[in-house]
Amino acid sequence: MCAHLKKAGLLVFTDLDGTLLDHDTYSFDAAKDALNRLRNAHVPLVLCSSKTRAEIEVWRKKLGNRDPFICENGGGVFFSDSFSSTCKDCRKKNGYPVMELGIPYPDLLATFKTLKKRFRGEIWGFSEMTVDELAGLTGLSHDEAALAKDREYTEPFLFHGNEKELENAVQDLKLNLTRGGRFFCLMGDNDKGRAVRIVTRMYRESAPYLTTVAIGDSHNDLPMLKEVDVPVLVRRPGGLYERETDIPNLLRTPGVGPVGWNAALLKICEQCGYIAPT
Ligand SMILES: [Mg+2]
Repeated sequence: MCAHLKKAGLLVFTDLDGTLLDHDTYSFDAAKDALNRLRNAHVPLVLCSSKTRAEIEVWRKKLGNRDPFICENGGGVFFSDSFSSTCKDCRKKNGYPVMELGIPYPDLLATFKTLKKRFRGEIWGFSEMTVDELAGLTGLSHDEAALAKDREYTEPFLFHGNEKELENAVQDLKLNLTRGGRFFCLMGDNDKGRAVRIVTRMYRESAPYLTTVAIGDSHNDLPMLKEVDVPVLVRRPGGLYERETDIPNLLRTPGVGPVGWNAALLKICEQCGYIAPT
């Protein structure tokens, strides 16, 4: 896999829900061996999720992670302070050097209102829900729901109308739409792939030959998987994989979620000699 690139280093991007975190329990216990291996080898682990910055900050703390991270489907790329001098296009926000690829939330909500008028009574956005309403809908705790509502670049919403008409309306507004489990999500032209490209470029300034790995389980992870040397698709509960298969050299984990994550990353570490970028 990267035997010819020994000493060049590894850079790992990971999705959270259903990938590093168990689909039902949100536990990453099953991935601890590989997490420790990466940490001991000083391999950067970049969390890349549709979650908000505030939600990811909680997981970074639990994981003891200080590497850059990507929130809201590539809407924002947050670096650590060590990147302050190298990230020329970054601005400072919430204490981080940040590169913003998404549309600022207030602007996005202004356009969301146009959609609300068009699909009167059929759309209900996160911005319109109380914290308790969101907690009730998602099963998140009150505090977790508050963090999920703390949005900067994307607006998830419930929709009960004609999906084709919704797609057309979003396209007319020059915005993009993704669909998760039960929520649709409105956003600009940000995706995980663009964000991964930016982070990779920053690391390769000092380690030009490092091998990039990305691991995810869903449709919105595919742009990220397409950007890296070693793309890994994690199995879902029930044994299925995301259906898209046009990614060359895609590895599929036999194990589900963090179990598959652990096995795949241990194997990759072994084949790449555990070497971290300098
Ligand atoms: Mg996922």
